[in-house]
Amino acid sequence: MAKKILVVEDNPANMKLLLAALRPQGYDLIQAIDGEEALKTAISESPELIIMDVQLPKMNGMEVTGKLREMPEFSDVPIIAVTAYAMKVDKEKAFESGCNAYLSKPINIQELRNVVAEMLLRRSEARHEIQ
Ligand code: MN
Repeated sequence: MAKKILVVEDNPANMKLLLAALRPQGYDLIQAIDGEEALKTAISESPELIIMDVQLPKMNGMEVTGKLREMPEFSDVPIIAVTAYAMKVDKEKAFESGCNAYLSKPINIQELRNVVAEMLLRRSEARHEIQ
């Protein structure tokens, strides 16, 4: 069954790029365009991985991540932070809020695909879905 990925990004051009990068990999892609929608969609759709833009309207990506991490069902869902500001402090904040990986814009498509595949595999292994 296709792995479900929630892509959170408020910029339409960036969203298009992220979806285009991941679509050929056969994932079931769902979208959210602000922090509140991200939280609601994550809860209703139970994605297996989340790609989280950090700068978002209504609630930023780190806040959303922090809230999700408070819920047991999201304790081990991989969250990949994406931000335009490749600053050390942002990276540290992203990890502090509970993100598992960090990518800076402009997104390198191959790197994104690799990180997503690796995170999904790691989670499957942790859950003993793969022997
Ligand atoms: Mn943004």
